[in-house]
Amino acid sequence: MAVSRTLHLAGLPQADHPIASVRVLNGGHAEQHEEHRYGSRLPQLWWVFFGRRWVPLPLQFFLIEHRDGLVLFDTGIDPAIMSDTRYIKQAVGRFLLPRIFQLHVTEKDRVDHVLAARGVAASDIRTAIISHLHFDHVGGIAQIPQAKLLVSDREWSILHEPNPEREWILREHIEIPSANWQQIAFEPTDDPLFEGFDGIYDVAGDGSMILLPTPGHTVGSISMLIRQGGWDPILLVGDLTYEAGLLDQDILPGTGDKGMLLASFAKVRRLRDRLPDLAVIASHDFAAEKTVARAMGRASKR
Ligand SMILES: [Zn+2]
Repeated sequence: MAVSRTLHLAGLPQADHPIASVRVLNGGHAEQHEEHRYGSRLPQLWWVFFGRRWVPLPLQFFLIEHRDGLVLFDTGIDPAIMSDTRYIKQAVGRFLLPRIFQLHVTEKDRVDHVLAARGVAASDIRTAIISHLHFDHVGGIAQIPQAKLLVSDREWSILHEPNPEREWILREHIEIPSANWQQIAFEPTDDPLFEGFDGIYDVAGDGSMILLPTPGHTVGSISMLIRQGGWDPILLVGDLTYEAGLLDQDILPGTGDKGMLLASFAKVRRLRDRLPDLAVIASHDFAAEKTVARAMGRASKR
């Protein structure tokens, strides 16, 4: 695949390998309605109350070993949600949650314990990219107070709208005193690779980790493109889709803004047209670990 190699390394220093590894970390699992994962013509409240087909999903996040320091892409869920009956402040949220997700999370699924099991100290995390502010992605921020937490300015603005809790954005677990939040604004680029996207944000300044706006699941959701010589490019898409294959077929999930989701799906597919080996990785996809290993050349190709 010499042609695509040349293409996806355009703009990257060929001999440079700033990233040692990308690891998929598991922070427990859950079940969701089939209609939630694969979409439904029925209204959301119908399947929330009457749906009877539950499908499993892993609660995953990602560790990137960059030479400037360790980077997390999301931080998992806080196991306190299982034991602390006041974790969700609003009664309606406490009522709805078990009807939307059946959570299977224990203390060992907290970010610091998940990292320790891989031989990494939570205190060594330098940066955490937050794909979006849902509770199962920001649940570890209290364990990494030293880390810079990057979130899109659009996502952050949801906190100032009435009742973000209704969207499963739990302010009291986000706006905590120890958290070092930094809102990012996407910057225009003339790189044809990113044509169609509403700007980019280069995390390390070396082109190896590029944030892209991919709204739809929430209005400020972002994805991260990881590029480095010798690997297939990797696109972490958070919850834009629940499985990479669904994005290919325009199969929408049961929640989110349909128009925005379809527009973001199309942008991701156009990016893959330009980077044919692009590995698209969804946070709640069981295939994530295998696909990442393959992209890094650590598993057989297809
Ligand atoms: Zn989400």
